[in-house]
This record gives sequence, C-alpha cells and structure tokens, in this order.
Amino acid sequence: MRIAVLSDIHANLPALEAVASDLPPVDEIWVLGDTVGYGPQPNEVIATLQAMGARSVLGNHDGAAIGTVDAAYFNPDARAAIEWTASAIDDNARAYIGTLPEVRRDGVLTAVHGSPRDPIWEYITGPDVAALNFSAFESRLCLFGHTHLPVVYQSIDGQVNAAAGLPGEPVRLGEARALLNPGSVGQPRDGLSDAAYALLDLDAGTDSTFEFRRVRYDIDRTQRLMRDAGLPPRLAERLRYGR
Ligand code: ZN
Repeated sequence: MRIAVLSDIHANLPALEAVASDLPPVDEIWVLGDTVGYGPQPNEVIATLQAMGARSVLGNHDGAAIGTVDAAYFNPDARAAIEWTASAIDDNARAYIGTLPEVRRDGVLTAVHGSPRDPIWEYITGPDVAALNFSAFESRLCLFGHTHLPVVYQSIDGQVNAAAGLPGEPVRLGEARALLNPGSVGQPRDGLSDAAYALLDLDAGTDSTFEFRRVRYDIDRTQRLMRDAGLPPRLAERLRYGR
C-alpha cells in the first residue's frame, strides 16, 4: 500500500497543486495539519484536499483559525496571518476544520501534527524529544509535522537515530518503530524552497520505505497573492529562501 504524506500546506495552493501533479498513483493521502495559516488561499486548499479525498488531522493554525486553539502563543506575524485567515475562511472550510481529529490511527500508522504526547503544540526538534514520544503511541509508525523539517527518527534497541530527509534517498524502515516527518508543502524551512512531501510504501514484510520528494512551484504567484491579501511581507519573503 502506498500513501502520500503531506503536511503544513499553510494555504499555499500553487505548492499543493504542484505536489498533486507530481504524485504517482497512491492508495491514500494523509495530511498532518496546518492546512491553513500564513498563506493566501485557505478555502481553495481545503476544497482541493476534499476533492483529493485526503485524511487530515488538526494543526495549531487550523484550530486557531476557527477559534478552538488559543493563538496567544503565536508570534506577531503568525497571529496577523491567523486573524486574516479567520476572516477569510468560508463556511465549508470552517466546517471541515471543525471535523478534524487531533490524532488519527489506522493499522500500523498514527498521525498527529506536533507530537504523539502533545498533538497540537509540541515540536519534535531532535532525537531527545523523539525518544520521549515513542511511548506515547502504540502503532509501529507515527507521522508528524509542525517543524517543517523532513526527518526520520528510528528507535533501534532503545537508541533513537535521526536521519535528515533528502530527496532521492528513500529510507528503509525495516522493523524498527519510527517517527516520520515529510517536511512542509507550503512553507519549507530546511533551506530548500521547493514544496516537500513524502511517499510511504507500506510493505507487508519488512521492506517498507519512506521517500522524500521535492517539487518546484510558482513561488512568485503565492507571494503576489499574499501581498494582495495584505499578509505580513516577511511571511511572503521567507518562501523564497525556504526558511
Ligand atoms: Zn506549520
């Protein structure tokens, strides 16, 4: 079974459309939250995910956009963007976000936005934080986002190893438990501006792989739409640098 894993789309429709056209045939599409916030096209992104049949979880920006997550911890740019988003989203988007679970479990997979022990807020920033989270989910694999950094953490004999997610180098998952982050579709922060996502190939045996992919998209278009919407200029500029 092959699953496309997308996270942190952040209302960036050109990035999502580029990923959608890059996708090989997959059985399922999982989305790890922060579908809206920062970017200029929240309604269009949600309608596209609905048409794709994506299975999503709730991110901190999603909840803040409909008022169920407190935006008090957001930095000023993020808060300005979330206020714009709250006023821009339509009834369909609001209802869709309202149905999203914080945790999704299915077979060998768990999916969260932040971390298994704190699905909305915790950032898994390194092996030490990852190690504290392996006891917080029961499935073999856990998909997460929130940091916007592609990475795999594997737990082998009580040791947690980290491997940065590089395109063209599928990670063999073997039998080890793992925490998997595909990176961000709509606001990459690993120094590469191309949209990031991943393909999870679940083999019945031990040959499962997690493949990181990058896709060029029309950054100018997203930046223009952000300026037209009056979103903070720094949020548009950072897309160019992937930071
Ligand atoms: Zn995010």
